Amino acid sequence: MTQPMLEVRDLKMHFPIGGSMLDRLRISGGLRFENPVVHAVNGVSFAIQPGEVMALVGESGCGKSTVAKTIARIYEPTAGEIRIEGQDIATLGFTDLLPIRAKMQMIFQDPYASLNPRQKVRDIVAEPLLEQVKGAERREVPARIAALLAKVGLNAEHAGRYPHQFSGGQRQRIGIARALSVTPGLIIADEPVSALDVSIQAQILNLMMDLRDEFGLAYLFISHDLSVVQHIADRVGVMYLGFMVENAPRDVLFSRPRHPYTRALLSAAPSIKAHRDREEITLTGEVPSALTLPSGCCFRTRCPFAWDRCTAERPKLQDVGEGQTVACHLTDEPERDKP
Ligand code: SF4
Repeated sequence: MTQPMLEVRDLKMHFPIGGSMLDRLRISGGLRFENPVVHAVNGVSFAIQPGEVMALVGESGCGKSTVAKTIARIYEPTAGEIRIEGQDIATLGFTDLLPIRAKMQMIFQDPYASLNPRQKVRDIVAEPLLEQVKGAERREVPARIAALLAKVGLNAEHAGRYPHQFSGGQRQRIGIARALSVTPGLIIADEPVSALDVSIQAQILNLMMDLRDEFGLAYLFISHDLSVVQHIADRVGVMYLGFMVENAPRDVLFSRPRHPYTRALLSAAPSIKAHRDREEITLTGEVPSALTLPSGCCFRTRCPFAWDRCTAERPKLQDVGEGQTVACHLTDEPERDKP
C-alpha cells in the first residue's frame, strides 16, 4: 500500500476565548463556565493518497476551513497528528517546517487578499521558491517563473504587473502559480473558486485538474458547493460541528449517503445528480454552539432519528464497506431509520 500524501489523526483545534470576547460574554450573562473554549475541530482523522482529491464539505462554521488552516500550520493544533509523507509536522517549529512547505502549499478563497498588492507578480510567485533554492540555483528563478506563468495560462509579460491589474480568475491563477513554484505534492485549497463567476470557476477547476494529472498533485479541497465537489473530488468528508460524520468515495457518497446529516445536505441541493434510495431529510433548527458541544452525537439536536442512545453515547466512525465510514448509531440499529 502506498504511503498517504497526508494523514491526519485525531486532529483537534480548540480556541480559548480571552480578552474582550470573554468580557462581552460576561456582560451579556452568557458565561456559564470557566475558561470557555470554541471546539472548532474535535478529533478529525482522514488520509489523502498521492494524486487524490479529497473534499471537505459541510455548512458554514462546521470546521472545514479550520482543518485546512491547522494542517497548513496557520493555526497551532491543540492535539493530534498531521503526517506529510509519513512525517508528523503537528509540533514542528518554524525552521523545521520550512522544508515541509515545499511539499504542501495553500491557495485561498480570496485571491486578491492573499496576494501582496505592493509586489509584482514575479516577486509573488518567486517568494516560496526563494525560501527553498540557494546560491547558483537562484539564477534559474526568472525562467522558472516564466514557465509557471505559462503553465497556469498567463504569460511572461504579466510578471511585471501588480495584482490589481488582473481579474479575479487571473489572480487565482497567480496564486496557483505561486503554490506550484516549489513543486508540492499536496495543495490545500480553501474555497478556491467560491469568489469567482461561475464561468471562471470552471476554468480554474479545469486548470487544477490538469495540474493534478500532470504533476500527480493531491488536493485537500474545502467547499460548501456540492456540485463543484461532485465534479472534482475522488473522496468526500462531511463535517458537522467540528466532527467528521461521514467519509466516502465520491460516487458512494452521492449515491448512498448514510449519515442523516449527509442526506439532509444532499436533500437541500436538488441540482446534485444523486440516486437517492432513502427518504429526503429537511434540516431544521440551528447548529449548536461550538462553545458547549451536545453530549453524545453532535447532530442529535437536529436529527429526526435521534433516540436516547444518541444522547448518551458519541458515535464513532465505523467502516460500512466500499471505503465508506459513518459516525451514526443507525449503522448498528438500521431498523430505526424511519423518521
Ligand atoms: Fe441521528 Fe443518532 Fe445517528 Fe446521531 S447517532 S445521526 S442523532 S441517529
